[in-house]
Amino acid sequence: MNILVINAGSSSLKYQLIDMTKEEVLAKGLCERIGIDGSNIQHTKVSEGKKVKIEKEMKDHGDAIQMVIDALTDPEHGVISSMDEIDAVGHRVVHGAEYFAASTIITDEVKKALEMCTPLAPLHNPPNIIGIEACEKIMPGVAQVAVFDTAFHQTMPAKAYMYALPYELYESDKIRKYGFHGTSHKFVSQKAAEFLGKPAEDLKIITCHLGNGSSVSAVDGGKCVDTTMGFTPLDGVVMGTRTGAMDPAVVTYLLNKGMSAKEVDTLMNKKSGVFGVSGVSSDFRDLSAAANDGNERARLALDMFTYSVKKYIGSYAAAMGGVDAVVFTAGVGENDAATRAEIVSGLEFMGIKIDPEKNAARGTVDISAADAAVKTLVIPTNEELMIAIDTKQLVEGK
Ligand code: AMP
Repeated sequence: MNILVINAGSSSLKYQLIDMTKEEVLAKGLCERIGIDGSNIQHTKVSEGKKVKIEKEMKDHGDAIQMVIDALTDPEHGVISSMDEIDAVGHRVVHGAEYFAASTIITDEVKKALEMCTPLAPLHNPPNIIGIEACEKIMPGVAQVAVFDTAFHQTMPAKAYMYALPYELYESDKIRKYGFHGTSHKFVSQKAAEFLGKPAEDLKIITCHLGNGSSVSAVDGGKCVDTTMGFTPLDGVVMGTRTGAMDPAVVTYLLNKGMSAKEVDTLMNKKSGVFGVSGVSSDFRDLSAAANDGNERARLALDMFTYSVKKYIGSYAAAMGGVDAVVFTAGVGENDAATRAEIVSGLEFMGIKIDPEKNAARGTVDISAADAAVKTLVIPTNEELMIAIDTKQLVEGK
């Protein structure tokens, strides 16, 4: 069974074709500048490992999907002989609001509900929906599945997802915590249970997805019970360019000072985080290099980041009444051993302790010290594979 995974943005579209009999990526790529001058597709046939770039006008997402199909079936760079070898398509959808607590096969009703989620993710959901409609048109009869960034977090209890605003705002506008990166938290928490050889139902896991955007989740018995991102991805830990949690009165202060709502939004999402504090970069490699060269603001930014993640690990252990495993994933979590070490330093009292030598390893590894009561694991995330797994299960009726 071959599953095509699509992640459609406003002017870009990422794809992977995955052979689910071996969970192996056959081809992957990216369409860029859709609807803009200079549109192109960058396609890689994985067995050959060589990226080809083709410049061709793509006026909309329909053209982009057609380019993807052409690349996948190309006699030279392709991996299938015809579109009939695509059994289903899994789409990443950012926001499923309270309508979707799990991935779902797309029907007309589902599409109506997707439209209703749009006010909550006005920048992200519309291109996701356009991607779905383009696939339906070009591949009629092929099952389309939506996999939501928010769905895994729908198991949070009300005490975790409600904000202490007047209750009417929840009723009228659905203002509450939703959480994001759900596909990644689900994937690595399931992999952690497999790795530890225990049923997910018996484990309390804290998953730390640390990349350019970062979030931490508490997963109790396989279900998310709390997460750091909120109504939007702005909340929680300090991020590459986002503030993370802070006193919301800063927003009213800046508005009263004369900044527009849009300016404050851009400031908090694009100009803040470790980038804003350091003035150096949002990239942790640049930050570490600058901090090691004596740049004090870069050191401060890194310290603020690791401190914020450390505090959530402590609070989620308290929320779950214990923790069996802490999992690190995503760009920083998978690759930055020094940042991992800093996050867990001082948590020995909770049984969290890593072995410096094991911490230097790559891939899926147990980096816990021999005498640690809590396992600390590094597990590479794979959101595309998780989307394909959910899609396969749904089309097989499981
Ligand atoms: P992601 O959003 O998961 O793609 O992660 C992107 C982040 O991972 C960027 O801030 C990168 O600097 C960071 N990253 C990737 N590789 C490394 C590395 N070897 N050391 C430190 N940070 C890294």
